[in-house]
Amino acid sequence: MDKQVLYDFNLERVVSEVIETNARRVLIQLPNGMKNYIPYIINYLKEKLRGNVELFVSTSHTYGACDIAEDEALRIGADLIVHFGHTPHPLYPKPKVRTLFIEAFINIKPSVNLIDKLVNKLHDLGLSRVGLAASLQYIKYMNYLALELEKRNFTVIVGRNKYENLMYPGQVLGCEYSCILSIENRVDGFIVVSGGKFHQLGASLVTSKPVIGVDPHREEVYDMSSMRDITLRKRYYKIMKAMDAENWGIVLGIKPGQFNYNAYGELINLLNNKGKKYIVFTANEINQHILRNIDTEYIEVFVVIACPRVVIDDLADYPKPVLTLGEAFMALTGRLDKYLFR
Ligand code: SF4
Repeated sequence: MDKQVLYDFNLERVVSEVIETNARRVLIQLPNGMKNYIPYIINYLKEKLRGNVELFVSTSHTYGACDIAEDEALRIGADLIVHFGHTPHPLYPKPKVRTLFIEAFINIKPSVNLIDKLVNKLHDLGLSRVGLAASLQYIKYMNYLALELEKRNFTVIVGRNKYENLMYPGQVLGCEYSCILSIENRVDGFIVVSGGKFHQLGASLVTSKPVIGVDPHREEVYDMSSMRDITLRKRYYKIMKAMDAENWGIVLGIKPGQFNYNAYGELINLLNNKGKKYIVFTANEINQHILRNIDTEYIEVFVVIACPRVVIDDLADYPKPVLTLGEAFMALTGRLDKYLFR
């Protein structure tokens, strides 16, 4: 593999799948952070497949495997989607078009510098039994890190996932942290490996144990406690503002792995039981612009039944409360003791 390429795109596997399934038209889908590798991927596949296959690349955002480009694939008549960077989504493991999921693990190992920083942080916080978790690209990196910490006498536990047929031990999604909860009572705190702070923040919202973030790209190690506290304070403020609202706007996301009709039914029952009024919207993309288009004085609070991270991370500054499903249940039932991440 080219030294410049940070990820293992496992292109040999892609070629075998195309040949074995006799695919003639293939749609490639990548997260935004990997799109700069498109020429590398396409040139490799064109060379190996010798012009026998038509290759298309989706420009859609691809935030997760909840957002498989199956409609694009159906429109162009693709017989295979190659989806890089995610494992199948628990709510939508079987897309309408045959899909090959490629993990794209990162090709780096923890440096001595990073391990030293991490060990110092663990000592500072008094953590000796730690749970390890990572987003998909960093699962192998996390396993190397576990070995290094064990060599330094830490007890390391990697939790199993509720969806272990679809996800790796220790793997988290922005919306799925069951591997954290599975070992919460056996550790002093968690280390979560991922680029940025997105997955680390999610982990810190589901557990009250300390969460240390590790960013392999920046070689940074940080305690998530203050970001967690600020985020929870903002979330509770919105939940409490929503508690007296009479008129609700319900936004039902329709992306394949985000569409949750059962949860929608639960919420509607609760709203009816509480005598609340509501208008239901459907949405593919959900952002500030879309909300402003449907917003009126009548609606006092929005609930988004889709990706909870769109609400927590992207819509936090919207002038009216915009709640996740879990937060809506908290507001409607008045049960505020435990933050419901859902
Ligand atoms: Fe999809 Fe949001 Fe979950 Fe990521 S966090 S997998 S974008 S629903």
